[in-house]
Amino acid sequence: MFSYIFMKILERRPERYDTGINILSGGHAQKIRKQIVKNFVKPDMDILDIGCGTGSLLIDAANAGANATGVDISKGMLVVAQKRIVDNGLKDRITLHNAGVVEIDSLFAENRFDLIVSTLVFSELYAEERALALYQIKKLLKPDGTFVIAVEVQPKKPLKRVIHFLVRFPLTVLTYIIAQTGTKPFNRITDEITQAGLNITSEKRSFLDSFIILTARKPANASSDRTGLPGTLKAEDDRSFIKSVWDFIGPWFPNPVEPGLRVLGHPDRKSPVILTSNFHLTVRRVEKSLNGENIFLLVAPANGINVWCASCGGELNTHSVITAIKTSRINERVDHHHIILPQFSAPGIDRKLLKKETKRTGVFGPAYSKDIPLFINNRKTVFEHNRAEFSLLFRLEMLLSMNFIVWMVIGILTLLIEPNMFFPFSIFFWLTGLMLYAGFPVIPGKSGWLKAAVLSVIEVIAIAMYSVCISQPIFSHWDTMIIVSAINMWLGFDLRGIVAGVTSEAEWLMHQLGMSSFGHIFSTGVFNTGKIQQDISKCNNCRIWLMVCPKSVFETVDKNKIRVQRQWECFSCNACVTQCSEEALSLKDAKKTTSNKANAADAKKPRG
Ligand code: SF4
Repeated sequence: MFSYIFMKILERRPERYDTGINILSGGHAQKIRKQIVKNFVKPDMDILDIGCGTGSLLIDAANAGANATGVDISKGMLVVAQKRIVDNGLKDRITLHNAGVVEIDSLFAENRFDLIVSTLVFSELYAEERALALYQIKKLLKPDGTFVIAVEVQPKKPLKRVIHFLVRFPLTVLTYIIAQTGTKPFNRITDEITQAGLNITSEKRSFLDSFIILTARKPANASSDRTGLPGTLKAEDDRSFIKSVWDFIGPWFPNPVEPGLRVLGHPDRKSPVILTSNFHLTVRRVEKSLNGENIFLLVAPANGINVWCASCGGELNTHSVITAIKTSRINERVDHHHIILPQFSAPGIDRKLLKKETKRTGVFGPAYSKDIPLFINNRKTVFEHNRAEFSLLFRLEMLLSMNFIVWMVIGILTLLIEPNMFFPFSIFFWLTGLMLYAGFPVIPGKSGWLKAAVLSVIEVIAIAMYSVCISQPIFSHWDTMIIVSAINMWLGFDLRGIVAGVTSEAEWLMHQLGMSSFGHIFSTGVFNTGKIQQDISKCNNCRIWLMVCPKSVFETVDKNKIRVQRQWECFSCNACVTQCSEEALSLKDAKKTTSNKANAADAKKPRG
């Protein structure tokens, strides 16, 4: 249990995963892996580890003589695994694949493995994903092959449940604070394995009965057929008052809805299929925009994060889209082969892989859900509605959502220590926030911190003048000056990233500290100081860049030639580079390279 919760934290630092997990689990994680290898692995056996992480079980299995294969959705984990495999001289005995759990059936032939293992993965999957994964596991196992699964579950006895809750709660909070993600134990695993057609042969519980190792066998005459389509969800299923309030005050923490297929109106076999991430606010807004339309809305697992953050941070990726398509079995519900993807998902989607895995062609829609109905009727409207807008309303929404929790925490401390300062503090906090967020385009300074410093200077001067007016020394309110400056610096931190969608102070700082992410909001996944470079000789003018660039960096010139026209707007999100099938674009460090001459001639002068 402990190891499982901390695993969520450690997953974000793959290179330290093994050391951390072993310290935090008191060696139990390693013990379970060794136990599985000792009890089930035989020489020359074909084994598959689903969610192999950094490859520890694979290495032990290969050392025991097995031919081991590992699958993991995290590229970072696989990089560490590959290095360890090479260091152990096991390159010929272990194969790795970067894929999601429900992609295994397209990687391997039926009846391929003697043993399939999954440790600490299943409780991260949603119901339909687990059902499909178990079906695929059954398909890939040889007749009489064995499936071993280790998962976190709820203890059955009430006393153990209480102790489990008391021990787990602080760890859950800690995980949320550090990783902004969570896990939930579940109890239906035995039922789900049985429903998938596997026969459970043994069950072993440990750690207050909160951890279970189950062994199941594929019957010799098992059928590989799947009957009946999975159920769908309705728009009403996403209406929750607490979740709706949380949308606006708690973006520091994910606010997920159940991934899966939502049926809006009365769609038929020709109706469009639209994809979004499983962030509550995003789903609600998309559903509202599509009110009155007949549409299939696919909600992809993205850890409860909005499309842009999830895509740049790697939570909404090709594998999550494939998972949504496969689990919903949308291909059996419609006759066409298109899926409309959110424009902001472009940095994370490999459309070639998507097509190969699902037979669906990804089409990027408009930037905002309100324009989807227009887009459905006329796809060309995407060229008019593909720019990210950072309107006043959006900035005010961000002011509230990014700062509410910080204001609440400082406010509670103020009430406890100096209650009469609560109202002055609150008024100052929100007034300064209003000035910074609403006045962002006009306050001098390039970065959020510079803008905040400008405000600080004005406010400190105002305090000094007040002191002089009441015949006190100029710095007599020095403590207020420090508090005012500190609040300004907080409000200015990351401001540029939040309200202008460009590389922010937070990303820069994390990049300097060698951090790839902190929670789901701050990520250096796309941190790049380079600017876009175009190789005109390779460009076939397919217009995909025009569709996916949220900053309108490209323009059509000379009838149909697409050229970089506003390079200074580029914030290196990588969307156009990812989507260019001709490799005609690259992101290069502007300081190290001279820009393409033809582009330079075409480009207009930068702002200001
Ligand atoms: S030009 Fe820059 S901002 Fe536009 S899509 Fe490409 S990398 Fe992103």
